[in-house]
Amino acid sequence: MNTAFQQGSRHLAPLDRLALLTDPVSEYFGSNTFNRAAMEKYLPEDVLELFDNALQTGRTIERSLADAFAEGLKNWAMDNGAKHYTHWFQPLNNATAEKHDAFFKPATDRSKQSLEIFSGSSLMQQEPDASSFPSGGLRNTAQARGYSVWDPTATIFILETDQSKTLYIPSIYVSWTGEALDYKTPLLRSIRLLDRAATEVTRLFNPEVKGVKATLGWEQEYFVVDEETFKRRPDLVLAGRTLFGNKPARNQQLEDHYFGAIPERVQNFIANFEIEAHRLGIPVVTRHNEVAPNQFECAPMFEDVNNAVDHNLLLMNLMQRVARKHRLRVLLHEKPFAGINGSGKHNNWSLSTYDGQNLLSPGKDPGHNLLFLTFFINIVAAIERHEALIRASIATPGNDHRLGANEAPPAIISVYTGEFIAQVLERFETDGLHEAINAKLMLHTDLPCIPIVELDSTDRNRTSPFPFTGNKFEYRAVGASANCAQALTVLQTAVADQLIQFSESVNEQMQSGRSVEESVVAVLQETLGQAKRIIFNGNGYSAEWEAEAARRGLSNNQTTPTAISAYLSSKSIELFERNKVLTHKELDARYEIFAEEYIKVIELEARLMVELCQTHILPGANAYLGQLAATQQQLAGLPENDSHALMTTQFNLKKLLESVNCVLANIHVLNEKIEHLHEQDSTTLALQYAGNEVKPVLEATRKCADTLELLVDDAQWRFPKYREMLFSF
Ligand code: ADP
Ligand code: MG
Repeated sequence: MNTAFQQGSRHLAPLDRLALLTDPVSEYFGSNTFNRAAMEKYLPEDVLELFDNALQTGRTIERSLADAFAEGLKNWAMDNGAKHYTHWFQPLNNATAEKHDAFFKPATDRSKQSLEIFSGSSLMQQEPDASSFPSGGLRNTAQARGYSVWDPTATIFILETDQSKTLYIPSIYVSWTGEALDYKTPLLRSIRLLDRAATEVTRLFNPEVKGVKATLGWEQEYFVVDEETFKRRPDLVLAGRTLFGNKPARNQQLEDHYFGAIPERVQNFIANFEIEAHRLGIPVVTRHNEVAPNQFECAPMFEDVNNAVDHNLLLMNLMQRVARKHRLRVLLHEKPFAGINGSGKHNNWSLSTYDGQNLLSPGKDPGHNLLFLTFFINIVAAIERHEALIRASIATPGNDHRLGANEAPPAIISVYTGEFIAQVLERFETDGLHEAINAKLMLHTDLPCIPIVELDSTDRNRTSPFPFTGNKFEYRAVGASANCAQALTVLQTAVADQLIQFSESVNEQMQSGRSVEESVVAVLQETLGQAKRIIFNGNGYSAEWEAEAARRGLSNNQTTPTAISAYLSSKSIELFERNKVLTHKELDARYEIFAEEYIKVIELEARLMVELCQTHILPGANAYLGQLAATQQQLAGLPENDSHALMTTQFNLKKLLESVNCVLANIHVLNEKIEHLHEQDSTTLALQYAGNEVKPVLEATRKCADTLELLVDDAQWRFPKYREMLFSF
């Protein structure tokens, strides 16, 4: 840290990061955010009151309020040393976007002084010339206008680098005609929709309830590799994953990594990014080693979905920055190393009333807890009705390598309830509300002094994409690099839609003279009868489940090209249009963007594969080939020319030649396929072509190259191997 710069920041004491290593987090948590304390200090009382009121009622923020808010915000930012501000938004390219403007405005003539200015309109909107963001045809390059608009429900923060401080204003991003060009706009629409739908349902039980919010606690998995090794792997640098490499003799089979001791170098890095995260108000609280070597996880305390999504994006960015200071690199790809566990981002998701009552908490007697059963069954029903769309929402080229591979949930969407809840539901379907099924489960160890503990009513199931874990769902199928907003927008829209239909059915029942409870039970019983085909409590990795799922009529879309067509089904279009979360046009644009992303990733990987084969792998293999050929000649010239050494050399030479030819033949085909990819007449055809024609050749090339890796002299092999990347700490 540059001390001159620290002293330069006007009113703040210089930041001593070493002290922060030992200071209690509560003393600096959120210190870089425009949090409650900062607002109270910098905003006049009436302004804060109006702002609070707008947040509570959802009312539009007026220009006059924005002006007053902007003045206080600017003063806070400048007192903290920020010179620039930026809207910060989430375009449909899996990165966040920002464009910095200075508060400083030079004087227009000599009689005036230059000033720092920040108006309400600058706070409310920026207009990035945005023709280079993906729009899926919603804008052509001639109509480049995109607007970023302040999202007052998210937390404003200051992001620091060693030599700069910038005010970040979380924003949505829309086109001139109001269409969503980002992840956040439909997410916010789904949050509001779900609030209204869930509140109406909750009021059947408690008319006092003010509102319902969805909560999210993500668990971010990631790999860490040494920077020098990373730089020597162009595939990691450019594609985020290795295109070559055999899993080392020792990988994760000794099961010694999960929850193992965190290596010191990585621990220092983690401690460092946690401090930065805490100052930005990101409540990370958990860290541990994951299953694969060099794989780790961090998780925060859950928050409302909007802030949790922002915080996840910010944290992914922070981790990558801080890693460089430690000469490390973070890999967020879903499958950086073949044959070794990939990385997911489990989305722990629940619903809670504004005042914090978790609606998915079953209590001691779930069979008798009608509020819990109402939300639980409706969520299961929503997933059952829209399982294909839900599968689509987690489809990315990276996640294709992970889903269905042996450590991640399969591509079939199902819900794990656990045996206990399954019994509760079974009885509910026939008998309605009932008394407790099981007494509390306790764990007795019979060891001296060891306390007796209460067991959760649900066990864990790693093989399910959507397990219930006691008081929340753990949506495990989301990819590590994804913006959670996509998966949650779809889930929340489906759940809200289901709750709306549920309310209507309950009202109909009540009109025919039944009590609230009778009506709710009757509708839930019927809903469950229909929805239960999505419940699966067995082993999701097994072949039996695939067969069983097919019998149940569940979709099993293994790849992105097959999965994302669900966005365009009439069922999906109606769901989004009916609920005003995405118009047909916006949905078409999203399909187009996701398809294009897939095509581009496959093409990039294919081109890189060809290049690296030609410039690294084949030259290394050929050099060794020459060496072997010379050895063969020498051995053949020896008196005992039928020696074992000669035969082995001949054998290796033959295998080497075969693999070299295999690589050569495949890259020839790959080049042709890349050309044909560009000749496809539509995005959908190109998407299918990329998946069905290009990708298999990419995989076949890798297979021959991986064989070469095992044949070529280590000294001639130009890439660091998996063991060097994964066992270096
Ligand atoms: P695990 O053993 O799977 O790590 P934890 O109970 O530690 O499970 O929680 C994991 C994540 O779930 C954390 O991010 C936590 O904040 C989140 N979580 C807990 N309760 C809720 C809830 N009601 N809504 C959303 N997320 C939750
Ligand atoms: Mg985990």
